[in-house]
Amino acid sequence: MGDLSGILTPPRTMVLAALGQVGPLSRTELARRLSLSPATVTQVTRRLIDEGLVEELERTPSRGGRPAQLLGLTGAPARAIGVQIALDRAVGVEVRLDGALLQEREIPLDATAPDCLDTVAALVAALASRGSRLLGVGVCVPGVVDRPGSGVVDSPPLTWTSMPAGARLRAALDLPVLVENDVNALAVAERLYGRGRGRDDFIVVTIGRGVGLAIVAGGALLRGATGGAGEFGHTPVAEGPRCTCGNLGCLEAVVGAASLRARTLRMEPATVYAEAGAVLGRAIAGLVNILDPAAVLVLGEATRQWDRWRPGFDASFPAHLTRPTRHIPVEVGAWEDSRWAQGAAALVLGAPLGVVPGIGDQGELVQALLT
Ligand SMILES: [Zn+2]
Repeated sequence: MGDLSGILTPPRTMVLAALGQVGPLSRTELARRLSLSPATVTQVTRRLIDEGLVEELERTPSRGGRPAQLLGLTGAPARAIGVQIALDRAVGVEVRLDGALLQEREIPLDATAPDCLDTVAALVAALASRGSRLLGVGVCVPGVVDRPGSGVVDSPPLTWTSMPAGARLRAALDLPVLVENDVNALAVAERLYGRGRGRDDFIVVTIGRGVGLAIVAGGALLRGATGGAGEFGHTPVAEGPRCTCGNLGCLEAVVGAASLRARTLRMEPATVYAEAGAVLGRAIAGLVNILDPAAVLVLGEATRQWDRWRPGFDASFPAHLTRPTRHIPVEVGAWEDSRWAQGAAALVLGAPLGVVPGIGDQGELVQALLT
């Protein structure tokens, strides 16, 4: 498999992100800002220079001391476009190499229409600002994707079966295109720019219409044998109600938005949400016992009501850990709806960094555009 250690280390991502965010910095300044050892910074930057991602700039005279050698990202600022495809709409964003959001746009979409990917391609074209170096397009979908570099999608919510989304968009756009499950894409964004940055092992759980899961293990996304890892929403947790998948008592049939809405019509909302929090806490504790992550990140539309879930969750989650004394952080972040699309863009930005498995030749294309 070759030496992946250099590719998989977060310091690489951190150095690239810092140079993209702050602008040119000296090695000493990088070490200080990122809390890395000078030796690590020297090693990482040497490799980035060899690969053409970073260049040594003119020495600037510093007051009183030796002139500091500044390092900067090469060439024009690189950008990526991310698109979230939902049944009735598509959300697109343009982001910088360091993850900063430049623009976002939402359009109505009929995912069941035969020409829906032409509509997505038109959205991408509208977002591609002139003069920027576009590295590629990331697309996220609520479904199972065979491999991001291929992009064949099975998605009941979109009514897609073996949809060759990646191939069609590549043909329409003539750019690298990476397609991934939406929760996996969120986890890649967290790994690169968010709360997963210093963590090799963490899980992302999303709550909203359904319940989603992404697993980052050993610094990379865990996709499973066929891309279907993380199907957490259909874990059986009760005797009922009937789930959209046809089975009884799946987690998302119990704590998904539709179920909660229906139950608050006949029960006290505080009770409904506390019960949902307790069910979710038990289920996530089971995952933690299996996977031993360093943190649980809870994201998704329903986190806006987390205060209502919290009483039930806080009681049940620690009670079901096999090591209840262990203080595993459960971090619930502020949510904005463009996060899915930003995650899709992170697929492209993370492609040269080894965070996303299964990108194949699309990763090399992104790398070539970057250098
Ligand atoms: Zn189900």
